[in-house]
Amino acid sequence: MKKAVIIYGAPGAGKGTQANLLSAAKGLIHFDTGKFLELIVHDEDKQKNPEIKKEAKLFDTGKLLSPTWVLKIVKEKTGEIAKAGFSVVYSGSPRTLYEAFGSMYDPDSGEKTSPKSSTGGLIAFLENVYGKKNISVILLKVKSASSIQRNSNRKICSACGTVIMYNDTTHHHTTCPVCGGHLRKRTLDDPEVIKARLIEYEKRTAPIISEIKKRGYKVNEIDGEPAPYEVHKKVIKLLNR
Ligand SMILES: [Zn+2]
Repeated sequence: MKKAVIIYGAPGAGKGTQANLLSAAKGLIHFDTGKFLELIVHDEDKQKNPEIKKEAKLFDTGKLLSPTWVLKIVKEKTGEIAKAGFSVVYSGSPRTLYEAFGSMYDPDSGEKTSPKSSTGGLIAFLENVYGKKNISVILLKVKSASSIQRNSNRKICSACGTVIMYNDTTHHHTTCPVCGGHLRKRTLDDPEVIKARLIEYEKRTAPIISEIKKRGYKVNEIDGEPAPYEVHKKVIKLLNR
């Protein structure tokens, strides 16, 4: 049975890593929506499209992309993945109440609204294409100290994008073990900035998690502190239930 898996967790909880491991082990498509949207707005062949040009400008000036456009694109791509017969895993998205639940929330303010016409969010879309019982929601829990430590020490390959976890062996590595590319610090944020991001994350995600629960989903909490391969085993066990 094809499934959709949604992985939430604070920055540094290992969402992307777990999604990649699931993809490698079970063939789910890791739909990294942030990365995908960036590719679309920077696609040279699409610059004649005024809608995309507008979004590219927002992106390049560091502004949020239009929620209505994001939802449309994410649903389109999800539809293609499902139609091609693949399971899908999201890391950290849907990111807003509007993206998750559609027009019952205002796209800009996130406040509850009573729209004249209703647009379903990603959750309803997934229910349509995969079936509600085939949707799993996972919340990776890590202590904020770990999140800060991971975020401030993580390195990423500038060529292939491999993320190198911080540990005693890797902390002085300068080249990528996969492709030999140059490793850079993923973020130069100081702990104070990361703390602010954690608070922001909580504020943004908590209402989505609680609404997901209200719709009858179990939000499966998994301890994200152990090494990724151990967390992965728990994820697989959960999905096999
Ligand atoms: Zn590399």
